[in-house]
Amino acid sequence: MSEILHVTWRITPLHPPRPRRHCGSCKTITFFISSGRFRTNAQKKRLDIWLIYRCAVCDGTWNMPIVERCPVARIAPEQLQCFMRNDPATAARHAFDLSVLGRHSDQIDHDVAATVERHVEDGSFAAAAHLEICIALNLPCRLRLDGLLARELGVTRSALLKALDTGAITLASRKALRASAFDGQRIRIDLSQATRCGIDPDALRASAT
Ligand SMILES: [Zn+2]
Repeated sequence: MSEILHVTWRITPLHPPRPRRHCGSCKTITFFISSGRFRTNAQKKRLDIWLIYRCAVCDGTWNMPIVERCPVARIAPEQLQCFMRNDPATAARHAFDLSVLGRHSDQIDHDVAATVERHVEDGSFAAAAHLEICIALNLPCRLRLDGLLARELGVTRSALLKALDTGAITLASRKALRASAFDGQRIRIDLSQATRCGIDPDALRASAT
């Protein structure tokens, strides 16, 4: 019988982040959406690869550089195949690469819509005194922890703060509640105290089943 019920929340953002840029076609500053497709160009044994984006206003194209003037021999054939056939996992990896996107945009719209899949690691809710939630991000995304917990536990952000202050919720730091959730982050919830802070026991049970 386990006192701590471990549950993993596996989070998958529904859309890649959208960089804001000037559109050469409609002459507005607007967001661009990844098409999930690549454009490749080979010249004199050198290769350029771009991820194709579309303007949210006019559907105009912006190609984000992935590989520039790279000797063809330096790219593994399997990797090249992934670009040639618009492999969805490869497109997602590049579309979610925030450090590269940041070089091409002064503002990135992080769509916070995400799915949360729950996996109970061991034990049962009825026997548990504590719930430990482990965050697993399938792709990098900026999802504020307080918003995520409030939505998944069906409580207000002020109830979460109260739970943190009274020790019903334990985090590595108080600031973590207002920061983005990160891969491997752990949130410990004292189940009896959480109920006293106004967190609905049914919502807690639902979050761990
Ligand atoms: Zn446009």
